[in-house]
Amino acid sequence: MFFTYEQPDFDINDPKEILRVLEEAYHNGCENCRAGKVADYIPELAKADPDDFGLCVRSMSGETASFGETEKRFSIQSISKVINLAAALKFLGFRETFSHVMMEPSGDAFNSILKLDMTSDLPFNPMINAGAIQVMSMLSNIMGFDELLEFARAFCMDEGIVLNEAVYRSEAETGDRNRAIVYLLQSKGVLQGDPAVTLDLYFKMCSLNVNAKTLANMGLMIANKGQNPFTGEHIIHPGYMRTIQSLMFTCGLYDESGEYGVRVGIPSKSGVGGGIAAAVSGRWGIGTYGPALNKKGNSCGGIAALEHLSHLLQLNVFD
Ligand code: GLU
Repeated sequence: MFFTYEQPDFDINDPKEILRVLEEAYHNGCENCRAGKVADYIPELAKADPDDFGLCVRSMSGETASFGETEKRFSIQSISKVINLAAALKFLGFRETFSHVMMEPSGDAFNSILKLDMTSDLPFNPMINAGAIQVMSMLSNIMGFDELLEFARAFCMDEGIVLNEAVYRSEAETGDRNRAIVYLLQSKGVLQGDPAVTLDLYFKMCSLNVNAKTLANMGLMIANKGQNPFTGEHIIHPGYMRTIQSLMFTCGLYDESGEYGVRVGIPSKSGVGGGIAAAVSGRWGIGTYGPALNKKGNSCGGIAALEHLSHLLQLNVFD
C-alpha cells in the first residue's frame, strides 16, 4: 500500500518506463489475487478461476498494452451500471434522470435495502443496485434489450458483446434481493416502469459478456468525453462525462469507494464478475479482470494493479 506521497525517481512520460510500471502492476495484481474469493451468490459466477488476472491499457491513439487474461470473457455485472446511466443521460437527459435517482454515495453494500426503506424514497445513486434498477425502470419505457445492447457495444467499442445466457438464468433464479428492491421501489410509488420488465432488463445488462479489453475501451470512451477516438463518432454528449466520472469516483467501488479514491484516485467501476473499468481523463482507458474479490466485492488483483500504476505514474486525479 502506498499511503505516503513520494515523487517517482524516473520520467513518468517515458514510454519504456510506462511499460515497465504496467508490467509491474500486472505482477502485483497476480500476486494479490490469492487474497480474495470468487463471488458465489450467483452460482454461475462461482465457476471463475480465482487465479485469473489480466490488465489492459489503451490510449487515444490506439496503443494497447495487454498482460495476462485480457481476452477471456466474463460477465460485466455492476459495471453495466455505467452503461445504463450513460444511456439514461443520452436518451432521457440529466434533469429527467436525476428526478428519480439521487447522486449521493450510500456507504452501504451494493445490494443494501436498509437506507432505501429507512431514510429516503429515491435510491441514493445509479451505481448501487437500487439506483441502477430505478434507472432501468426509466429506460424500460423507451427501449428494449436489443437497443440497450447496441448502445453498450457502441459505448464499449466492442461488437463482440453478447448476453451470457447461463449467467442471466443464474441471476434471474437467485436474484431475490433485487426483486425485493424493485418491489420496495414500487411500494414507495417511485418506480418508473413495470417491475418484471425492469428487472429482466437489469439482469440482462449485468449478464453481458466482456473482457478486460472491453473495459479498457469503456474507460477510453469516458476518458475521451463520449467520442470514439478511432472513428470520431460521438456516442454521448461530452457534457455528461463530468456526471458519469463524478459518480464513478464517489460511488464506483461500492462501500470501498472512499478508500479506493485515496489509494487509486481514478474514476472507476467494479463488478462482482471481477472486472474494473477505469478512465484516465484525456489519456487512457484501463480494464482489469481478476475474479477473486475482497470482502467488499471488489477485485483484489484489480485494485492492487490500479493502485500500483496510479501511484507510480501519478494518475490520481489530484496528483
Ligand atoms: N448482478 C449483480 C447483482 O445485482 C450485480 C452485482 C455487482 O456486480 O455489484 O447482485
